[in-house]
Amino acid sequence: MAKEKIKSETKEFQAEVKKLLDIVIHSLYTERDIFVRELISNAADALEKFRHQRLLEEEVFDSHVPLEITIDVDDTSHTLTITDTGIGMTRAEMEMNLGTIAHSGSDTFLADLAEAAKKDISLIGQFGVGFYSAFMAAQKVRVLSRSYAPDAEGHEWSSDGGGSYTLTEEKGLRRGTRIIVELKDDAHEFANEEKIKGIIKQYSNFVPFPIKVKGETVNTVQALWARNKNEIKEEEYTEFYKFIGNAFDEPLQRLHFTADAPLAINALLFVPRENIERLGFGRMKSGVNLYCQKVLIEQHSENILPEWLRFLKGVVDSEDLPLNISRQALQDSALVAKLKKVLTRRFLKFLGEQAREDAEKYNDFFADFGIYLKEGVTSDYAYRDEIAKLLRFESSNSEAGKLISLEDYIERMVEGQKEIYYINGPSRTAAESGPYVEAFRKRNIEIIYTLEPIDDFVMNHIGEFDGKKLVSADRGDLDLSAIKSTGDAEEKETESALEPEVVKSLTGWIKDALGDRVKEVIVSKRLVESPAIVVNPDSYMTSTMERVMQAARLEKGESFQEAGTKNLEINTGHSLIKQLSLLRGTDESFAKNIIEQIFDNALIQAGLMVDPRKMVERSYKILERATKG
Ligand code: ADP
Ligand code: MG
Repeated sequence: MAKEKIKSETKEFQAEVKKLLDIVIHSLYTERDIFVRELISNAADALEKFRHQRLLEEEVFDSHVPLEITIDVDDTSHTLTITDTGIGMTRAEMEMNLGTIAHSGSDTFLADLAEAAKKDISLIGQFGVGFYSAFMAAQKVRVLSRSYAPDAEGHEWSSDGGGSYTLTEEKGLRRGTRIIVELKDDAHEFANEEKIKGIIKQYSNFVPFPIKVKGETVNTVQALWARNKNEIKEEEYTEFYKFIGNAFDEPLQRLHFTADAPLAINALLFVPRENIERLGFGRMKSGVNLYCQKVLIEQHSENILPEWLRFLKGVVDSEDLPLNISRQALQDSALVAKLKKVLTRRFLKFLGEQAREDAEKYNDFFADFGIYLKEGVTSDYAYRDEIAKLLRFESSNSEAGKLISLEDYIERMVEGQKEIYYINGPSRTAAESGPYVEAFRKRNIEIIYTLEPIDDFVMNHIGEFDGKKLVSADRGDLDLSAIKSTGDAEEKETESALEPEVVKSLTGWIKDALGDRVKEVIVSKRLVESPAIVVNPDSYMTSTMERVMQAARLEKGESFQEAGTKNLEINTGHSLIKQLSLLRGTDESFAKNIIEQIFDNALIQAGLMVDPRKMVERSYKILERATKG
């Protein structure tokens, strides 16, 4: 008989995998336990996939084999073996899954990971280093796998974590995957039965399949979310959260609810302690898994919650879904769309309750996760008004760091006030000290400080709250005349203003002097202390957006470019403006310098960039003249 040719080949890892392995092997020494958790969770994933696939296929391989995970340790050969009877992998799948990283933006991912490895190992789990974490403890890893597909062949994948891996055909395997970890000299502890049992209890207790060590099931095989709320202990919730969220901390908030109408739902949702996107780790994938009668339908489901709730972790189980629904069908199922709506509304309601019951705690949540709600406002029309109620801001009536809601604001509106005012600035101090708030201060009108660039878009999207328009304080057409001001400031403003004809000629002259840099020059009705400000004639394009666009232009390496879309408002009661009006007659070219400088200053106060070289040169000229005496 001719010797059967063994199909074996050695392949290089994808470059990103090499880098990842390098980090895993050289930077991650502590908390090595997590590699066991990763391999067990892969086994569980494979079992869940099989359980679901079985419902979709007519024929599967080894259909009678029970769904479970078996762990063997060998203290003499120093190996740890994890076997599952799950979906298995074909040769092509092994090459794909165990030879590449299917991460978009792998480069940034790797850079972030290297950073995190130095700082905080507990974040590693959330990165999904996954399978490759085995090399923290392994000198060699062998993966024997046979797919559920009836006509598939079994294969062995093996690697020492260097630059390559070897794939060999392997006959006679059962369905599923066996991972043999040949332990490094300093990792022999992972071949100790008690050690492994301890890790399973700590990290993998809620895996919904039996995990057997020496024939004995070590974990609690039970769906926590399906149990009665009153019977679940706090620690069980926390433990479950850690399991489902790959987390090491405790959740910030928890919502466990059941509903019968309009859909049967059993959901257990957690808000994590940390917003890891904020820590710079790129966009998270959804953390909620969809089940039907305790069978996993979709992990990290993108379909059951809107994208802006991707920070949630947990489980949603609905027995109204057809068990054999395919991934594809999930996307356009009306039932799933309904489920999504119910869940979203319920979660927003929950946040509303939290905010009422414990405002401080809610504000803490908002400080970290408010950015997602803002994303919701700008991307999801359907929930805009509900989310708007949940937004919190700093304001001129609140101390720094203290937050208010739009409802709070409305309660405190002064007589005659019909609109909600806000001003965007890079910091509270900047917003507070800018010229825009003068007119508001004068009238005791509260003004909301929006301190993040996205806030402008958020306010624009909300548009109106409780029938009141949201208006940016740098709007050109701002009219506060219906609101009474505190007496003396008003007098000061009108007392010694310039004559109307003089004003008319002055504004015309300024427009000529500034040319294209300015759209219109008008007399301010709001300024008290400052000589001038720039305002937005266009109610949509606020200074913040302009700022964002300017920054984008500079980032792209495009040269500085002035918009010319702003109006300049001048305070004709201000002595500088009055003197300027006189200077025009005696030294026009110097007066031009002055007005250009005033305009640049106003742009700077609006947070907009000006050409610094021109500005500095000019200001030296002015200073020189001022020091002449
Ligand atoms: P993740 O689990 O986040 O997808 P991993 O690195 O842990 O990333 O695993 C990579 C892929 O390898 C998995 O998505 C899966 O397709 C495959 N895989 C790993 N372990 C198994 C297993 N025990 N059975 C079947 N497939 C597996
Ligand atoms: Mg994994």
